[in-house]
Amino acid sequence: MSDERQRDERLTKPDLKLAEQMRNTPHGMAHWAGTGPEGRTCRECAFFEHGKRYYSATAGFKGGELMPARCGKYRAMMNGRQGGAIPNITPACRHFEPARPAPARFSRDR
Ligand code: SF4
Repeated sequence: MSDERQRDERLTKPDLKLAEQMRNTPHGMAHWAGTGPEGRTCRECAFFEHGKRYYSATAGFKGGELMPARCGKYRAMMNGRQGGAIPNITPACRHFEPARPAPARFSRDR
């Protein structure tokens, strides 16, 4: 076996799935995006702290979409430190708990 091949076998192999999850995780999530239930988003999670008025203007380019909000689970895990606001369409993390009811994605039907 050549020296070069021996060296390559000792190198750590990258975890491509984890790298993608890390890339897709905005600051403030309780865990990596996409590690929660398939197809669920932060909007549908009980820890997504949106308010009743957390919608963009219906006349604006976002068309009344639910605004990004903070994660209550992150804050609890970080001893009260706030994380960044997470977009509502972010794939859920493994701490996902279903909200009942989840807020609508838009302030009114489109
Ligand atoms: S899925 Fe829930 S617990 Fe996980 S980051 Fe999103 S809001 Fe927070």
